[in-house]
Amino acid sequence: MATINYKCPNCGGPLKFNPDKQQFSCEYCMSDFAEEKIQQLYAEKEAKESKAETAEKNAQENSAQGQEPQEDAVVYTCPSCGAEVVTTASTAATTCFYCQNPVVLGGRLSGEFKPDRIIPFALSKEKAIEKFLEMCKKKIFLAKGFASKKQFEKLTGVYFPYWYVDSQKQASMTAIGQKVRTWRSGNKRYTETSNYRVVRGGNLIVKNVFERALKSENRDMLQGVHPFNLQESHPFSMSYLSGFQAEKRDIEKNEISQAVNSRIQDYCKQLLKGTMNGYTGVVTESYNDTTDLEAWNYTLLPVWVVTYKYNNQIYPFAINGQTGKTYGKLPISKCKLAILFAIVALAVFAIGFLGGILLL
Ligand SMILES: [Zn+2]
Ligand SMILES: [Zn+2]
Repeated sequence: MATINYKCPNCGGPLKFNPDKQQFSCEYCMSDFAEEKIQQLYAEKEAKESKAETAEKNAQENSAQGQEPQEDAVVYTCPSCGAEVVTTASTAATTCFYCQNPVVLGGRLSGEFKPDRIIPFALSKEKAIEKFLEMCKKKIFLAKGFASKKQFEKLTGVYFPYWYVDSQKQASMTAIGQKVRTWRSGNKRYTETSNYRVVRGGNLIVKNVFERALKSENRDMLQGVHPFNLQESHPFSMSYLSGFQAEKRDIEKNEISQAVNSRIQDYCKQLLKGTMNGYTGVVTESYNDTTDLEAWNYTLLPVWVVTYKYNNQIYPFAINGQTGKTYGKLPISKCKLAILFAIVALAVFAIGFLGGILLL
């Protein structure tokens, strides 16, 4: 496995992407470097590594013909300390378990797996912890030990892969619109129902319909951390991954294109139906569309993640690495709830007791 270590041009220390500064920082000599500088410096190396990776892959394929592809775990050598490190097949960036240096597995996100764009982390780990604490403070029934220092240390910055789809369609819809008119004459009441055939059509553009591109991760969580502001996305560069974890997609377009298209069609139907105003009721008769243009963007998005085990249940918790929006179920302390019930019961009893006195 080809690896890249982003190193400080001054002292050779490990370089990590710094969300606060939106620059690359060296923790050893405290230098900062602009994105462009590091990207220029490493462009050649990244290209070389992807080439080496492709060659390695081809060699493997040739020698492994007829065998089942085995891609569950991959061993690579840490360029800093030389340790053999095992990662899952989808990991594209990680931290060396032994020396804590950031490692980017160059080949994982190259060729057809090269993302189109990335939103770099804007929320540092410290800020993510603040958000996390803020959220915990509001939850008075939180299980003891959840909002602890040990918990924060496990907070990991991960770039998750997503598909984003923009679509331009010629869509048309016919429907029956109903108008009901009632009036009174003498002691009779009249109702008149008129049916109209309503036709709408046009050139519709639906943007940023997204779907996760990683099977193994909790789907609700990956959807729940949205929205992201895509206007702040950058063309993909491998160097952003330094200091974070990154996952490679394992869901391809063809696996989700039908589901995505039907969601786009739902939006189109809503848009068209939304223009059929002034009727008491509208019933759709038919809908048709043809797709003029469709663009799929493979996008990496920043998420801070922590999982918590409580009463034998796993609670995944996520914080949007761009906006700080939190997502997740928190463990509830049954003990604290029981105390509340006791207090409420006591209060009710006291009120009842008071009422009893008053009635006497
Ligand atoms: Zn340095
Ligand atoms: Zn190492």
